[in-house]
Amino acid sequence: MNKLALALIASLLAAAHLVPAAEKAKTKEAPFTPGGVWRAHDTNRPRPVVVIPPAPSTQTQAGKPPSDAIVLFDGKDLSQWRRVAMRAKEKADTSEAPGWKVENGYMEILPKAGAIQSKAKFADCQIHIEWAAPVPATGKGQGRGNSGIFIEGHPEIQVLDSYENDTYPDGQAGGIYGLHPPLVNPTRPPGEWQAYDIIYLAPRLQDGKVMQPARYTVFLNGVLIHHAVEVPGTRVESAINLQDHNNPVRYRNIWVRPLKGYDAK
Ligand code: MG
Repeated sequence: MNKLALALIASLLAAAHLVPAAEKAKTKEAPFTPGGVWRAHDTNRPRPVVVIPPAPSTQTQAGKPPSDAIVLFDGKDLSQWRRVAMRAKEKADTSEAPGWKVENGYMEILPKAGAIQSKAKFADCQIHIEWAAPVPATGKGQGRGNSGIFIEGHPEIQVLDSYENDTYPDGQAGGIYGLHPPLVNPTRPPGEWQAYDIIYLAPRLQDGKVMQPARYTVFLNGVLIHHAVEVPGTRVESAINLQDHNNPVRYRNIWVRPLKGYDAK
């Protein structure tokens, strides 16, 4: 056997030594995971991005968003928002300056000032929004603590004082207006801070046709009230609108996490 052959055998033995036989067999046989890019247990797969989780809110103090969130309102100003006319009677005023009040870490609807709209647009995302209905509670039914969250081009997620205040179920707090009542009613009394956590999946379109409708999953105060329910709408990139329904509802701690999918940087 010549020197070259010996060297080759030595390097093959060394390579074999580096990867134990059992592991080699495992890598060879591991099935592909969904998506067909990575095999099961592949240590070369990109690690999920490290995110510092949110600090929870209390009734007296707004929490902190997770580290990868886009913050739309941190209690200081409305720089991430513009005024938007949602009702016909608001359209005469074309001002884009939001007329809502900001104080003590929250924003408060100035009735008839018009709705506000996030300057940023989102497709698939996780949305966190906290709100409180006015005290003392005045009015009844749809006239009590009414506002709403609109993922532009899609149905309203109702904001309403639904604590001991009856109305039609698909229009109470957490209702997807006119379509689905919330699964349950976990609302708190007026004046107390409440929280929506919304998982929004944008519609999938092909040649302008909806191949897969948009979906809402919604938690109200940590309780699931809609699960992957399909909703109408063809808009893929949407701003978030907060409705002025003439009631001084308050909002705080608003953030959005665009959803990027597995293995995203
Ligand atoms: Mg409303």
